Amino acid sequence: MGITLEKQNTTYINQEKEKVFTLSLLEWGKNNTRHFPWRENNYTLYAKIVAEVFLQKTNSDQVAFFMPIFLTKFPNAEKILASQLVDIEQALRPLGVFRRRAVTLEVLAKLLVTENPVKVIEWEKLLLRVPGIGDYTRNAFLINGFNVKRIAVDTNFIRLVNRFFGISLKRDPRKDKNVPKIAKKVFPSNKTRDFLFSLLDYCSEICKSKKPECQKCILKELCNYFKLQE
Ligand code: SF4
Repeated sequence: MGITLEKQNTTYINQEKEKVFTLSLLEWGKNNTRHFPWRENNYTLYAKIVAEVFLQKTNSDQVAFFMPIFLTKFPNAEKILASQLVDIEQALRPLGVFRRRAVTLEVLAKLLVTENPVKVIEWEKLLLRVPGIGDYTRNAFLINGFNVKRIAVDTNFIRLVNRFFGISLKRDPRKDKNVPKIAKKVFPSNKTRDFLFSLLDYCSEICKSKKPECQKCILKELCNYFKLQE
């Protein structure tokens, strides 16, 4: 069982351990991160934010399959803006959550066409006004699109951090003020994009929710959870 951050600050506040966490994930990612179209440089910013909207409720493999189909019909924001909501819904139906996603894309497309954002700050302000795009989606997109330092944390990050550092952050990052504090410590100032991709894939392939692959884990020597299993 985890221990509270307040009681065990000394366990967590260990800069060496934070450094190992960040550098190990970056190193692992060099040879192990998965290839998805939205991670490639030839994907437009429009396509990247659309992919992030889809990734909210759908797994990466399904989104990777669906993206080319969607982009054939809606290659840019102008095309969405010129379409009826019902046609966008119809196109999104195979992916699920189609009504809500269609509204998100319609509002997003309108803002993109009218404001034509270029800089990070312009994108950031614009996305704050789109229903259905929350902190995680916005920050994950900014990291992916611009490789800037932002914090994008979800339940997977919290699971990994709780296990590794032996702490008890709440599962919902919005309900625990310690989450951003810890995330700021372990998210690097540069290579944020590489780090985010490594983190996502590490949680999906190694530090899984059920039956984590501790024997294969590059973090196990310093991992509190692993020590408790020995
Ligand atoms: S040792 Fe196990 S629990 Fe700890 S970080 Fe690695 S996979 Fe997760």
